[in-house]
Amino acid sequence: MSEERSLNFIEEIVEEDLANGKHGGRVLTRFPPEPNGYLHIGHAKSICLNFGLAKKYNGKTNLRFDDTNPVTEDTEYVESIKDDVRWLGFEWAEELYASDYFDQLYAFAVELIKKGLAYVDDSTAEEIAAQKGTPTEPGTPNQYRSRSVEENLQLFAEMKAGKYPDGAKVLRAKVDLAAPNMHLRDPLMYRIKHAHHHRTGDKWCIYPMYDFAHGQSDAIENITHSICTLEFIPHRDLYNWFIAQLAIFPSKQYEFARLNMTYTVMSKRKLMQLVNEKHVDGWDDPRMSTISGLRRRGYTAASIREFCERIGVAKRENMIDFSLLEFCIREDLNKTAWRRMAVLDPIKLVITNYPEGETEIMHGENNPEVEGGDGGRDIPFSREIWIEREDFMEEPPKKFFRLGVGLSVRLKNAYIVTCESFVKDADGNVTEVHCSYLPNSKSGNDTSGVNVKGTIHWVSVPHAKTAEVRLYDRLFKVEDPSNEDGDFKDYINPESLTIIPNAYIEQDLATAEPGKGYQFIRKGYFTMDKLSTPDKLVFNRTVTLKDGWKAPQGSKA
Ligand code: ATP
Ligand code: MG
Repeated sequence: MSEERSLNFIEEIVEEDLANGKHGGRVLTRFPPEPNGYLHIGHAKSICLNFGLAKKYNGKTNLRFDDTNPVTEDTEYVESIKDDVRWLGFEWAEELYASDYFDQLYAFAVELIKKGLAYVDDSTAEEIAAQKGTPTEPGTPNQYRSRSVEENLQLFAEMKAGKYPDGAKVLRAKVDLAAPNMHLRDPLMYRIKHAHHHRTGDKWCIYPMYDFAHGQSDAIENITHSICTLEFIPHRDLYNWFIAQLAIFPSKQYEFARLNMTYTVMSKRKLMQLVNEKHVDGWDDPRMSTISGLRRRGYTAASIREFCERIGVAKRENMIDFSLLEFCIREDLNKTAWRRMAVLDPIKLVITNYPEGETEIMHGENNPEVEGGDGGRDIPFSREIWIEREDFMEEPPKKFFRLGVGLSVRLKNAYIVTCESFVKDADGNVTEVHCSYLPNSKSGNDTSGVNVKGTIHWVSVPHAKTAEVRLYDRLFKVEDPSNEDGDFKDYINPESLTIIPNAYIEQDLATAEPGKGYQFIRKGYFTMDKLSTPDKLVFNRTVTLKDGWKAPQGSKA
């Protein structure tokens, strides 16, 4: 947004740190995705925040893959995440992997054991949970808690060496079994998992837990401001505890409210279900809230950044209306998208007094918002053109300013025509509309003196290209599918995709590029699908021209 806005609370913290000379005026943030799925619009908020802060305060941002869970992670996801961050317009200082720190993390763990601050526990997960107590009752120590440093060192080394099966033992931090914060009641640091890791292969069969990997990774990288979502507030004490006991770089964690948006789900696990169960056509299906889905649908990076700017950064969770995202893409495309004509539900219009076999070149602007014009485009016109079926009525009501026998309209960028008759097939369907045109009514050089109220779009029959056009609606029927009874997938909108197999489009659209936005006049904003081919052109509707749902709320959180 161009207008000045007040600082968000994280910017206030950074400015205070800078004013106090903390970290020598250095700002280093990180974006830490787990590579277990594709990024969604919620991640975009975190990306814009982390990279945006660094940009604003002359700092840097690391891209760190939080890959401590070998079972769910994959290099396909790593690549897609890099693509998405870059596409959003951000550059990271360093590409890093938590798995690169496995040796260092292991050494940290050994250090804590030596300090008497960690122990190997043979209890089952159930036993550990039961011994932890409740928020109002302290936990009870078990016999493993008093193991000697030597025994712990040996057992931990054996865990690493692969001596024990999954689940047989864990390494726990010895913090405080009576702590009011349950996360401090001797949290797990390492578990045994005999699994292949996408980067470290079979080197490890013990993997650090999130709480022991994340803060230490921040410290190893000298991250100054570690920004995460509100659900990590209860983890903060532990984050600080590990850093203090290890006396490593004092990174600090700050929490902001995650993005929730209506008519969508925002969790990789749920998005993965939609993909695996084939409710959608892959992670980048244009109905998905993934960054790759939005991109394929025709959303621009600028519109997503603008959206993230508008929703702001808050400390309290709320629900953002999907319409706000649509508002942002409309605003952007209105300024940048080239105008073209496309007929989605065609009916033929024959201009009976126009010479057969003749082609005339009309002129149209690419984008009327561009000051001084942008050169425009040529549009071939001929005796037979396609118009929208809905622009003709057999029995037009009063105030129908389009076609019906006796009614006149302007053909966009061309002539005024008057409907004389129409043709029906045996089933009673109108197949052709016959009109006459006013030769002296050509757009830009109209001397006819005739005024008409309506203007309709058209495409010349011999010059038109055929395309499949895909119209999208909300993927879910309800505002918050995750918060309804039953499974969120019960609320999928069965009409989220409408395919128009044979639309007619202006010929130069055949060489459009996926991602470039076009306004199909009166029909919405579209972009070519990434799988479109010259033999089968495919266009996706990004968004309609007007909001068919609710007026966008400026939703300043
Ligand atoms: P998911 O539940 O979708 O898998 P996650 O938090 O587990 O999300 P990560 O890959 O761990 O996904 O997230 C990377 C970063 O993005 C984290 O810092 C996380 O806090 C942030 N993030 C994830 N979801 C959102 C959201 N909806 N809004 C804002 N930030 C988010
Ligand atoms: Mg996560």
